[in-house]
Amino acid sequence: MKKVALVTGGSRGIGAATAQQLAAAGYAVCINYLHNHDAAQQAVQGILVQGGTAIAIQADVAVEAEVVRLFSELDQQLGRLDALVNNAGILMQQCRLEDLTAERINRLFSTNVTSYFLCCREAVKRMSSRHGGQGGAIVNVSSAAARLGSPNEYVDYAATKGAIDTLTKGLSVEVANEGIRVNCVRPGLIYTTMHADGGEANRVERLKSGVPMQRGGTPDEVAAAIGFLLSDAASYITGSFVDVSGGR
Ligand code: NAP
Repeated sequence: MKKVALVTGGSRGIGAATAQQLAAAGYAVCINYLHNHDAAQQAVQGILVQGGTAIAIQADVAVEAEVVRLFSELDQQLGRLDALVNNAGILMQQCRLEDLTAERINRLFSTNVTSYFLCCREAVKRMSSRHGGQGGAIVNVSSAAARLGSPNEYVDYAATKGAIDTLTKGLSVEVANEGIRVNCVRPGLIYTTMHADGGEANRVERLKSGVPMQRGGTPDEVAAAIGFLLSDAASYITGSFVDVSGGR
């Protein structure tokens, strides 16, 4: 029987590349998305034509009831969950801290942080030997921004990623003896359309000279690190952070 993986925000960018690589590695993949039905269907089709197994489930992972529904639909359609990739995330228009509002900060934290906690909660309930589960692996997608702070761009976004690093550390120890490994990847400047949401579609081009490797990264390069951390090759790795950021 195929292992089952859930990729939140799997319709585009890093999530879509991860879903594709996990399917090629033999997982049945559930692609979660928010609005972009066409992109989600395209990601599913891309896997099906390669002979893989994939479904798409729309759910806003920032909303608790939607997360509960997402996991329950996944249970029904694919069965036992083996791997969770917490990847769905947003950023907003670049600005300085004195221009932030509580509404914006709260929206970022509910999408980028609360959702990761809720999906981890539902995954642990299914994977933990404490609850009769067979174990599993979780990878949280954080960001180099957690280390760098994103000054003059989005300190609020960077702070959400700092919270993900702390979540990874705490949860990894909490469930280490229950068959679950919890790790984190921290991408740097990756070519996706997310940068356009911050108002600068060409952000990677502007900043890449500051990267020791002098280039941006691809979604596939991040997906490869996620796939490794989920795999049996990483069986003694938990609570670890892999920076996929060209040396920055
Ligand atoms: P992206 O291309 O903008 O894709 C975002 C994905 O998240 C889409 O599939 C989107 O669904 C989904 N999504 C957004 N809000 C959601 C919600 N509330 N519920 C469910 N799904 C939701 O992003 P990306 O660049 O691949 O980034 C993926 C992750 O990597 C994020 O956590 C991001 O912070 C992190 N990261 C990215 C970079 C980078 O340079 N790109 C660097 C460091 C870290 P729809 O298609 O339906 O909108």
